[in-house]
Amino acid sequence: MGPRTAELVERAERLFPGGVNSPVRAFGSVGRPPIVLERGEGPHVWDADGRRYVDYIGAWGPAILGHAHPGVIEAVRRAAANGFALGATHPLEVELGEAIQRAMPSLERLRFTSSGTEAVMSALRVARAATGRDLVVKFAGAYHGHSDGLLVDAGSGLATQAIAGSAGVPDAVAATAIVLPFNDATAATLAFSTRPGHIAAVIVEPVIANVGVIPPEPGFLEHLRELTRADGALLVFDEVITGFRVGPGGAQARFGIKPDLTALGKIIGGGMPIGAYGGRADLMDLVAPAGPVYQAGTLSGHPLSMAAGIATLAELLPDRYVALEEAAAELAEGLAATAAAAGRKVAVARLGPLLTVFFRPTLPLDAVDALDSDRDAFAAFFGSMVDQGVLLPPSQFEAWFLSMAHGRAEIQATLEAARVAFAVGLA
Ligand code: PMP
Repeated sequence: MGPRTAELVERAERLFPGGVNSPVRAFGSVGRPPIVLERGEGPHVWDADGRRYVDYIGAWGPAILGHAHPGVIEAVRRAAANGFALGATHPLEVELGEAIQRAMPSLERLRFTSSGTEAVMSALRVARAATGRDLVVKFAGAYHGHSDGLLVDAGSGLATQAIAGSAGVPDAVAATAIVLPFNDATAATLAFSTRPGHIAAVIVEPVIANVGVIPPEPGFLEHLRELTRADGALLVFDEVITGFRVGPGGAQARFGIKPDLTALGKIIGGGMPIGAYGGRADLMDLVAPAGPVYQAGTLSGHPLSMAAGIATLAELLPDRYVALEEAAAELAEGLAATAAAAGRKVAVARLGPLLTVFFRPTLPLDAVDALDSDRDAFAAFFGSMVDQGVLLPPSQFEAWFLSMAHGRAEIQATLEAARVAFAVGLA
């Protein structure tokens, strides 16, 4: 740790719980001092002491174009010259809303929020209002933001720190969640057959990306679609990560499934604070002031977020996803081959540009599998990678976010570092 980083970390630890403003930014689970990042450009980030890293945190999802994309900077600069939040509908809200709708036609109506947490929380409020039911099915290891009812068996920072549920959530609220194993069609069938007419919605990350990457088994999402439809419940896709990440139309286009409601965030704001939820017009028209479901936000549809989102989506042409997919395949296959050559048993999970190197011999199908990974081996691998200038998410249970700015040189550098890192700790 350089001297400026050390000084900033000390001050941050006096200010912020655990020294951070979001738990995933802590490096405790990999046994390292935290990193303070000051600048990003393309596939790289620089720490407070000027050290450069090839970056796979990717701002935890938004940075699909890489950091500090000139077109996005210019769009934000132009928008900023007109002031920030003005407190009424802004032309840029209409423009970004239409761009999202073109890519994801299931969002017949949508609303912007300031975070993914709010988007999911609000979508479920709509689902409960529309069905007159309270229960929500979620999957173990999935993360849907930090609203009370969803902090049950959640992934992301909770998985990293082995927290089953958050303190401070009333039991009555936690009891509205039915937690099932991902990819277990029988468990989903059973949940509906034991509580017919009581489940408002199934909320699902169509590709789990918060306990490491776990793609859906063929037919699983279709099964959820059929079960919800048959019971009069709603299917809610949390595409906060997968939206505009696994393809231009998100997971719903990639898997050909139309959810009733969708939550978005991250990429649609190009790195600025954002969330959005939307779906069937008859459901979204329940939202105030059109209907009785209250949801609001002083900074919702913030012009700088809208500008960054519009400029980001404008870059996301279909052929760029093809190139991103090819780069991700090269990285994933290279990592698997490098690990095998080092005699290290790992399983590389990948869907599109999301990938996780699981320190376990086989790919996980659900959170129980994923959590049964060798965290110490991951920590050793992480430490060696970071020492060699490759910054991974500091947890076994977070996805690597490849960007469209990562080129062959960065991927080769990553694989070379991995050759060394996989050997650490092996006899
Ligand atoms: N849903 C998913 C799938 C997420 O990954 C996240 C954040 N990582 C959220 C919701 C919450 O989004 P935010 O952090 O913007 O509140």
